[in-house]
Amino acid sequence: MSERFDAVVIGLGPGGEVAAGRLLAAGKRVAVIERELIGGECGYWAFIPSKTLLRPTEARAAAGRVAGTGRPDIDWPALRDYRDYMIRHLDDTAQVDSYQKRGATVVRGGARLVGAGRVEVGGEVLEADHVIVATGSEAIRPPIDGLEQATVWANGRRPPWPTSPAGWW
Ligand SMILES: Cc1cc2nc3c(=O)[nH]c(=O)nc-3n(C[C@H](O)[C@H](O)[C@H](O)COP(=O)(O)OP(=O)(O)OC[C@H]3O[C@@H](n4cnc5c(N)ncnc54)[C@H](O)[C@@H]3O)c2cc1C
Repeated sequence: MSERFDAVVIGLGPGGEVAAGRLLAAGKRVAVIERELIGGECGYWAFIPSKTLLRPTEARAAAGRVAGTGRPDIDWPALRDYRDYMIRHLDDTAQVDSYQKRGATVVRGGARLVGAGRVEVGGEVLEADHVIVATGSEAIRPPIDGLEQATVWANGRRPPWPTSPAGWW
């Protein structure tokens, strides 16, 4: 027998997280489904790590343009460690706990719609009055000669999946 919810949210990036948080705050029976990490691209591969890495180089460049200041060194191992801290070491255990404490059913896996209000994940079917699809987006590559050969880091287009932050470099 399938489980029934007020709402099932597929994809827990910033979009899905806002939807799920508001539904839970309103006392709804909610299931959230994520195939990778709760937080989505933003928290692990996009906004947070890129800004963590860019800000020190910005500050360094700014210092170099100001009279009477030195040019600070960049301590790469320390910066890399700080990035890993900021991306939670690719660990969403605390996010899973937080959703469970708020009453959500957390399901890990790739979901697909199998009918009106019916979502299949890992061989189980969840039924809901409402299904929110918050699965992100994918960038289109413009037709520029040679671009297909380049490694592009964009939303929905990551280089081979890193199993730990250390695998990135
Ligand atoms: C390099 C980079 C830098 C960025 N910097 C910034 C910035 O500085 N400021 C800013 O505001 N934005 C930034 N962004 C954009 C930001 O990351 C996105 O706007 C945001 O992540 C979109 O959120 P989302 O919830 O729509 O999708 P996502 O974050 O992509 O989340 C979608 C989730 O759905 C899951 N999913 C997909 N399909 C399924 C399925 N079938 N079943 C279960 N789960 C599924 C995915 O695993 C993913 O976790 C940046 C993006 C990139 C790529």
